[in-house]
Amino acid sequence: MDSKKLEHFKQILSTQLRNLTETVNDDRAAAIDSIDGDAKDVVDKSQQDVNQELALQLGERASKMIADIDQALQRIDDGTYGICERCGKEISDRRLEAVPTARYDAACQEIIEQEEGMADEISTL
Ligand SMILES: [Zn+2]
Repeated sequence: MDSKKLEHFKQILSTQLRNLTETVNDDRAAAIDSIDGDAKDVVDKSQQDVNQELALQLGERASKMIADIDQALQRIDDGTYGICERCGKEISDRRLEAVPTARYDAACQEIIEQEEGMADEISTL
């Protein structure tokens, strides 16, 4: 991939990372606010628990996304960005535009998702 394209994806990823970090900080602030504000009110306790649970889950998902973006930025530095980790083929620009953190090309992603889907089915039996 040429340096101009790499720079383009680096900018997309950096922007996403910045937005995510801001969102996580906002969520954390909101969660702390709800603890300070409603902690004395026993009636609101369950709603507060739900809010905290939601904030926690959001945080976990955001953490995973931040890790994905970090890894993609690392691959840009390493010069392996845009190359499928499974088969070594180039990932299409269209796919990278849609999913800048993609580690696999569309064909491999499909196979991996099918394998994961089967694993999920087995674990729920
Ligand atoms: Zn592949």
